[in-house]
Amino acid sequence: LSGIYIHIPFCKQACHYCNFHFSTSLKQKDDLIASIVKEIELTTTFTTKKEVINTLYFGGGTPSILTIEDLSLLLDSLKNKFVFSDTIEITLEANPDDISNDRLQKWKSIGINRFSVGIQTLVEQELRWMNRAHTAKEATECIDKIKQAGFNNFSIDLIYGSPLLSNEDWMKNVHFFINKKVPHISCYALTVEPKTALDKMIVQKKKEAVSTDKQAEQFDLLVRWMKAAGYEQYEISNFAIPGFRSNHNSSYWQGKPYYGFGPSAHSYDGIKRRWNIANNALYIQALQNNQIPFEEEILTTTQQLNEYIMTSLRTIEGLDLAHVSTIFGEKLATEIRIKSTKWGDKIIITNSIIALTDTGKFFADGIAADLFF
Ligand code: SF4
Repeated sequence: LSGIYIHIPFCKQACHYCNFHFSTSLKQKDDLIASIVKEIELTTTFTTKKEVINTLYFGGGTPSILTIEDLSLLLDSLKNKFVFSDTIEITLEANPDDISNDRLQKWKSIGINRFSVGIQTLVEQELRWMNRAHTAKEATECIDKIKQAGFNNFSIDLIYGSPLLSNEDWMKNVHFFINKKVPHISCYALTVEPKTALDKMIVQKKKEAVSTDKQAEQFDLLVRWMKAAGYEQYEISNFAIPGFRSNHNSSYWQGKPYYGFGPSAHSYDGIKRRWNIANNALYIQALQNNQIPFEEEILTTTQQLNEYIMTSLRTIEGLDLAHVSTIFGEKLATEIRIKSTKWGDKIIITNSIIALTDTGKFFADGIAADLFF
């Protein structure tokens, strides 16, 4: 079973911190949808039989910007090529300002059964600081709308560590959604990516810089609150009430194969990774000429091992040295075990499993990089 990711590269306005591929002009929307349909048709599948798909994820960008007709076109074309499993999880990333009772019913009618809502914060001033398109009122109201429409499986995204977010506001943000019993919450530290509007504003001193100490503190608070509220931290940034993990993202972390369609989307067949061009006009042009514009790399054994180290350490299951030994050899497993001991109380080794402790979780990337080959 594989998963499918579809990248919808359009947004109403540009959030200052964002470095995803998107355009705020919808002029090319219809051509782009037609091109994704073409890409699906032209794709050579991993197996010769019609493959069964377990998860489908519309990400972006802002997929909730699409009309029901656009989404139906994409779904029909996928169903021609693949078999949707009976229990398929179909997630739509949605922004609060796009969520209405009417649209929720329509999304339901075409098979969307999970949402990932970009809330980020309930502090109005911070939403403006980030240049988000929605208001705090829309963010709180959309949760009730989703529930009233009969969806019980959904996720929200929150951001911590911005200069405007006090610990008290952070506590209010998180507890609002805990109290609403939101089944899945993803929380990300505000990252200042090079060349983003936020990066430029910080350089020009128009916005205050981000403090990593504050981020560590707010992450630490978050982990404690979520644990007390009964959420599983099944991946460093992802918390779920038992039974509500994201199947789609879990597959990525387990290294399962997936297809990615649309500009900038990545695909992975277990050995080869390919990524489409991150440019709407060039993507459309190539597909009009029946070409899929992608680059690809074949992962070396070392890259595969490093990737396993990176993703497994971030998950609740941890890094399994027995697995490393079977796939990559006992020598490398032993080397990882020896190297990891220097991280003291940041990791815990139980039998063959290396897992991060709560204090280690904030240093996940550094620890993983240290264990790389
Ligand atoms: S809505 Fe999402 S993808 Fe679009 S600019 Fe904002 S953060 Fe980026």
